[in-house]
This record gives sequence, structure tokens and C-alpha cells, in this order.
Amino acid sequence: MNLFSHFRTCFPSDPARTFIEEADGTRLSYSELLERTGRLANLFLSWGVKPGDRIAVQVDKSVPALLVYLASLRAGAVYLPLNPSYTAAEVRYFLADSTPAAFICRPETEHEMRLIAEALGVPRVETLGTSGDGSLPPNWAAAPALFDEVERSDSDLAAILYTSGTTGRSKGAMLTHANLASNGMTLREAWRFTADDRLLHALPIFHTHGLFVATNTVLMAGSSMIFLPGFDAAEIIRLLPRATVMMGVPTFYTRLLARSDLTKELVRHIRLFVSGSAPLSAEAHREFQARTGHAILERYGMTETNMNSSNPYEGDRIAGSVGPPLPGVEIRIADPATGRPAPGEIGVIEIRGPNVFQGYWQMPEKTKAEFRDDGFFISGDLGRFDSRGYLHIVGREKDLIISGGLNVYPAEVEAVIEAVQGVGECAVIGVPHPDFGEAVLAVVTARPGARLDEAGILRALVDRLARYKQPKRIVIADELPRNAMGKIRKKDLREAFATSFS
Ligand code: AMP
Repeated sequence: MNLFSHFRTCFPSDPARTFIEEADGTRLSYSELLERTGRLANLFLSWGVKPGDRIAVQVDKSVPALLVYLASLRAGAVYLPLNPSYTAAEVRYFLADSTPAAFICRPETEHEMRLIAEALGVPRVETLGTSGDGSLPPNWAAAPALFDEVERSDSDLAAILYTSGTTGRSKGAMLTHANLASNGMTLREAWRFTADDRLLHALPIFHTHGLFVATNTVLMAGSSMIFLPGFDAAEIIRLLPRATVMMGVPTFYTRLLARSDLTKELVRHIRLFVSGSAPLSAEAHREFQARTGHAILERYGMTETNMNSSNPYEGDRIAGSVGPPLPGVEIRIADPATGRPAPGEIGVIEIRGPNVFQGYWQMPEKTKAEFRDDGFFISGDLGRFDSRGYLHIVGREKDLIISGGLNVYPAEVEAVIEAVQGVGECAVIGVPHPDFGEAVLAVVTARPGARLDEAGILRALVDRLARYKQPKRIVIADELPRNAMGKIRKKDLREAFATSFS
């Protein structure tokens, strides 16, 4: 079934109900959503877009940009969003790799993007700005509104999302209509979404979190959302009283905690705060609960698999854990070297279920290497289950530090350092060391008003961490480098401190 047809069966019975409201009060109803995506899907067909063709998009976040996603689904095309911060050279790689039938870019970059796209033989290039500008809107508005969704089978692709690719070439994760439908329904049930919910949406929409987790869950419940162009703490504080749910990356929560106007009273209408895409520190979790009365619900997922585990809606939400597997999703822990199941131990997290993607676009070898023979996807994340069946992530496999032959899991060291008085955030990395192979190095930031020194932090760790886990050096920094999803760029830190011990 076409994912959009699925959404349609969940729309509110009153089509005048709001789907999206913007910060200035502009609203888009469910009937307008149907009308506008119908027009755009008709326009796509008039360009010659056929089922399975890719529609690549590099535009800034806006309501029309979100409608491009939904119209692509209706037309049976494969939606391919690109991070607006990708450079022209990066975009050239993605267009060459995905050979889209159409490319929609920003009016500001049209000149250079058109040259690239035309040189690669992309048949159609259009532009879309954030204020109704660009070449797309006039033809869009003039196309007929009625459109019947193009039929799709469960194995047909709905989207390709390129992974952030911190090592090697970025890979296009192929996601089917069925992958997205199953995860959307699972999250609607797990997080108890209803038509009365209003989600505060400040995430980017080129990534699985803002695009699928947030939007698809809302559409599966006929809920509405307050749609913001990005995260602005003051705007969030202003709009929180109007919302019932917020989804965010951990930096949203740490930035809100830095504000004195984050209070219990402010969030009294909120029923759920969700965090994911990067680890939420146990410290931030506890502090947020103390300030607002809300235990943030942390979940775990990735572009390739959609969402895998979630702390419970009812029941204990454990700080520092990503909760038990979601219904229908199997998660096991395996020995990274042999692939043998390693229950009760730290190992690589492997995932199987209707949520898991079909493989990497045009990379059969890479795809084969990342799946076990029995269909489990090897996530590359390391973790363990506790006695209650809650999953704890200890870091990416490639971030594991081997110092003097002993494994050091960055997340464990980071949690201990973040609990030291005055420490704000912390990133632990391994850097080359002449004796130990790798040495543990920590980069930390101070809380506002706190003064930190390396010796003081090291003293605080003596009784709390085994000697081999204690950093050989602690660097005090103003801030940690992060990507758009708030993930710490550990690769950049490793490069910056590569020669610390040489
Ligand atoms: P992405 O494909 O960009 O969504 O990145 C997925 C990766 O983000 C996962 O493989 C994890 O390494 C990380 N991640 C996502 N959610 C969490 C979480 N709640 N805690 C720790 N890491 C997370």
C-alpha cells in the first residue's frame, strides 16, 4: 500500500482540522494538505516522473518543502532529501549516484546547481524558496488538485536517505513504504498519539528524526504540529504552552535547561518529551525531570532502521538507557568479531524487523557486509541489555578505545566525567599513544559560571574509574563540535588531538 494512502485512512474525520500551524499563526488544514499535495503530484506526473523515479531535494525547511515529500509519496516517486549545508561538490556526488528524474534546489544556489544537474543529465531542475518564491510554486498552484495515489507494493521504495557518512562515501539507505508505515504505526501506539496532539516540530526535515519519526507519527494519528524553521530556545519557550508533545535531539534539552524560564508551569500542557539521534546524558535527564517534572523519553534509532527501542510511555524511563525493543523489532547483542550472540555482555547491536531498510542504493557488496545471514542488520553501535531488558548504548564501534589492550567504552567515561561538579558536556576519544596504542582523552566544557581545571577533574575520577579508563589528558573547551542533529563530531576531535602524545 502507498504510505500516503495509509496516512489518509488516519486523517481526522473533519478535514478542516489543522495539520500544520506556523509560528506566525498561518495554518494548513488536512483538506489543504490533500489539495496541495494532489496538485504537486499531478505536476510531477506532467514532468514525466514515473513510479520509482527519484526526486532529489535540497531546500530550506518550510511547509511547502514538507509537502514535496508527501507529494512524492503520492506520485509513487522516491523522495531523496539532502542536507542544505552540503556543498556543490557533495551535491554532485549525490545526484550522480542517485540519477534523479528531478532536482529541486534553493533559488539562491540555482545557478551552480543547474550547471551540475544539467551536466549529469538530470531532466528537470526547479527552485523552491521559503517564502513562496522559486520556479516551482506558480506551476504547482496551477496543476489540478485531484489525484489518486499511485499504487505501490510493500517492497517499493518511498525514500532514499543518505547517511551522514563520517567515514568513506556516504551511502543511500533505501526505505520502503512498508518500512515507514510499520514504524509510524508502532510509534503512534507506543507514544499514544491521538488527533488531539500538537507536536512542537523544530527538527530538520532532511533527516529521519524530523522527517519520519515526527511527521509520519503525526500523520498516522491525524494530529497537528507547530512547525518551526529551526531550533530557537526563545521561540520554543514561547510555544511550549501551546503544544502537547516535543521531539528533540539532546542539545534541544540542554539548551532549554540553560534558561531560567523553563518551569513546571510552562510545560503544564505537555504530555511527552522525546529525545533521540544522539545520547542524552543521564545528568541532563535528571536535571530536566527536577526542573519540569517530566522524565524525557529516550529512544534509539538510525536512518537505516527507523526506530528500534524506546523507553516506555507508562513505566520507568531510565536515564542513560534507550529502553526495551519496540514491539515487532528484534534486537540482539553479538560479539563484533565473530557475530556470535553475546547476551548479557557488551557487543554490537543487531536489529531485525519490518522497520529495517532494504540495503544501500547501488552498493550490493556493502549491503551484504552489513547484514548477517539470518537477516539481522549490524548497526555498528555497541551496547548491552540490563537485567530488566533495557538497552544501554556504550558508543559506536568505531569510537571504541583500545588502550593497552583493554576496551574503554566512551559513554561510560563520559557519564562519570559529566557527573563531576562544574562539568557541562564531555566527549571521550582515543588518540594514538606510543606505549598504549591508544590513550583516552576527554574534551570537556564547563557549566555556566564554573571554573574547571584538568587536575581537579582527574582527582575526582580516581575513585570512580579504573586506572586504564581514566583520561591521560583532559582538554577544557568552550564548546564541542556537533553536526545538525547534535551529534558530537568525534572524528574532528580525533583529528584535532591526533598528535597529543607524539
Ligand atoms: P542517524 O542515522 O543519523 O540517525 O544516526 C544513527 C546513530 O545515532 C545510531 O546508530 C546511534 O549511534 C546514534 N543514536 C541515535 N539515537 C541515540 C540515542 N538515543 N542514544 C545514543 N545514540 C543514539
